[in-house]
Amino acid sequence: MGKTTQRCLLLSLCFSVLVHCSAAFVFWTAMVEIEYVNNYNESVKKYCECGVYGLNSPLEKVSGLVTLPKGDLKGCGSDPVYDRNYSSPPWIALVKRGNCTFSEKINAAKRQGAAGVVVYNSDGTGNRTTHMSHSDALGIVTIMVGNTQGMDVVRLVKNGTEVQMEIDVGSPHGPWMDTYWLYFLSIAFFIVTAASITYFVFISANRLYNLSMHRRTEKRLKSEAKKAIKRLQVRTLKREDEETTSDSYMCAVCIESYKASEVVTVLTCDHIFHKACIEPWLLERRTCPMCKCDILKALGVEEETKETISTDSPPDVTVITVTGGEPLYEVPLTDPASPDAERHQHRYDNRAFEGDSEAARG
Ligand SMILES: [Zn+2]
Ligand SMILES: [Zn+2]
Repeated sequence: MGKTTQRCLLLSLCFSVLVHCSAAFVFWTAMVEIEYVNNYNESVKKYCECGVYGLNSPLEKVSGLVTLPKGDLKGCGSDPVYDRNYSSPPWIALVKRGNCTFSEKINAAKRQGAAGVVVYNSDGTGNRTTHMSHSDALGIVTIMVGNTQGMDVVRLVKNGTEVQMEIDVGSPHGPWMDTYWLYFLSIAFFIVTAASITYFVFISANRLYNLSMHRRTEKRLKSEAKKAIKRLQVRTLKREDEETTSDSYMCAVCIESYKASEVVTVLTCDHIFHKACIEPWLLERRTCPMCKCDILKALGVEEETKETISTDSPPDVTVITVTGGEPLYEVPLTDPASPDAERHQHRYDNRAFEGDSEAARG
């Protein structure tokens, strides 16, 4: 769960960084409305969302009388650039791009009390605008309009027409606001989220499955071990037995010598142990503590379980008749590997199993 939380945090961090970076590219459009009286004494109103607020401009609404610089239309040079001052009615400076920085133009108008500054683009750029950066000129509404829109107003003002302009905040644009970007990011976000959820679900399901499989296997092996233990030969030691007389015999589980009348279990590998010592061991490990011989394999318990499970396709068997003409054991043709021979040899040798095997066979 720790890793899952880390991944979630990383994902949200990436997402927030993406949002933050994209926010830097957002710009706001400006609604520009002009109003004037034409030669036929008619009031004309024009309106367009054709301006772009400068990067350092306050997003506010302003209005005023459009004023051009006295000399050069680019509004650079020493003061006074305009025939206006703070006592004039609200006015908006309309200047052409070029010759000096945006900040210099804006500050020249600001010094003489302009309510706002409209910079129009250079000749030959049509309706195109850019997102102005003017970090040295703050606290005054500044927008940029296309050359076409700017020149239209310049012509009117030069002809002596009084043009009233109102600038208002339009709408935000940028990576996030662009329809395609929004569409793309929504899909990307959806894909990433779906992929993450699928991944986590898959991992969790896989873990649960493995856990249940492990438990099942453990349960099966334990029941198989129980079955196998029942088939093992059990002896009660007598005083004259080699195991009680010789010191070389010792139970490898409890490291004790054997005494007469103790009950021992003989494994398929012929190693003997105290019955009480070896049974819990075999339930857990199913192998001889001395030679690691697998008692399930040796007794064929594992094979029997598999055969019981796959009853749909019983393996082909052949009956091998050993002396006496009685069928003693069956060897599957599909698996002629050596362990079977070994295991049946043990069965054959171990008289204690014979009864069990016969009984099992019915
Ligand atoms: Zn023991
Ligand atoms: Zn052994």
